[in-house]
Amino acid sequence: MHIPKKANSDPPAGRFAILGLMKAVAAFPGKRDIRVIDHPEPRIERSTDVKVRMLDVGVCGTDKEIAHFDYGTPPVGSEYLVIGHESLSEVIEAGPAVKGFDKGDLVVMTVRRPCPHPECMACRVGRQDFCYTGDFTERGIKQHHGYMTEFVVEDAQYLHKAPAGMRDIAVLTEPLTIAEKALTQLFQVQARLPWACPAEPGRVAKGCDHAVVLGAGPVGLLGAMALALHGFEVTVYSRSPEGGEQQDIVKAIGARYVAAETNSVDDLVRQVGSIDVVYEAIGASSVAFDVIRRLGTNGVFIFTGVPGRREPIPVDTDLIMRDMVLKNQLIFGTVNAPPEAFETAIADLAEFRKRWPDAVSKLITKRYPIDGAIPLLQGKAGGIKNVVAVGA
Ligand SMILES: [Zn+2]
Ligand SMILES: [Zn+2]
Repeated sequence: MHIPKKANSDPPAGRFAILGLMKAVAAFPGKRDIRVIDHPEPRIERSTDVKVRMLDVGVCGTDKEIAHFDYGTPPVGSEYLVIGHESLSEVIEAGPAVKGFDKGDLVVMTVRRPCPHPECMACRVGRQDFCYTGDFTERGIKQHHGYMTEFVVEDAQYLHKAPAGMRDIAVLTEPLTIAEKALTQLFQVQARLPWACPAEPGRVAKGCDHAVVLGAGPVGLLGAMALALHGFEVTVYSRSPEGGEQQDIVKAIGARYVAAETNSVDDLVRQVGSIDVVYEAIGASSVAFDVIRRLGTNGVFIFTGVPGRREPIPVDTDLIMRDMVLKNQLIFGTVNAPPEAFETAIADLAEFRKRWPDAVSKLITKRYPIDGAIPLLQGKAGGIKNVVAVGA
């Protein structure tokens, strides 16, 4: 079928009138199909809207799950979902009420949008990352089209400005926000320790500074960088074998690399000493629970991974419960991120680059044009973080 590139005179259903058509990567869960489609180009409708031209969209495990139809929900009334949630774009137009954004500004957009329920305290105060009802939407994931497309219109409140000098790395902001939200909560809960741990807001003290990161994917490596920046002594425990690029990055940031292939969790503890913090970014519950077993006194274990459903594994629940009580341990999970985490992620990325320029650049393995996105989403490319360069 030939789709005309020109604007249609009938206004379509939904929020945006069609200007024309643009390329977008869309998953059709009903047909189990994923392809590059022509999608209506949005235009500014409200005075607080900003229109951006997409530059980079990062690909992560969530996108791959959506591409395998294990996850992801199209907007109501659409048979497809435009995917992509890790974005960097450039402002091309702004509504009359928009303040603080100019044409050409680089911006990173948040992902989750609030649920409509008046009783949801979290969403009503702009903290939809803590939504109670589950009826939030997420761009590129849940009932809201995402960013793997040429143009996007979004309310200015969901945009965060990135410095022009961060054009090449700012697409890493969103995956870093996971660590930023986790660190904020870690410092909140460790303020329970009365001898100032953290020593000052956002700065860890000796004695509660041994951090283990599980996994050396982008979330793990960015988490390791954030922990190192805040003064933690960091060890990355990963299933990637020794001698790989991940190990080079870990070493470059002054952290220790322990390969799970050749080191048991007990070996890990021998090298680290008492584990004060675990930042889990491996998504495998077997490894995670093996490490929980060896969490130190007053330790905090932070889950960020969403494991796929596998066969249940035996876990010594008595031992874990006993330790949690007798060692004052805390285990928490964290998902999504508030606006402040985007601001701190942008600031920290700039700091990472100052300290470890090569390590930060190495996080991005390769950029692909939008027409090359499908094999990438189907998991056929290796490396650390692959990016769809929509604006290329
Ligand atoms: Zn992601
Ligand atoms: Zn809510």
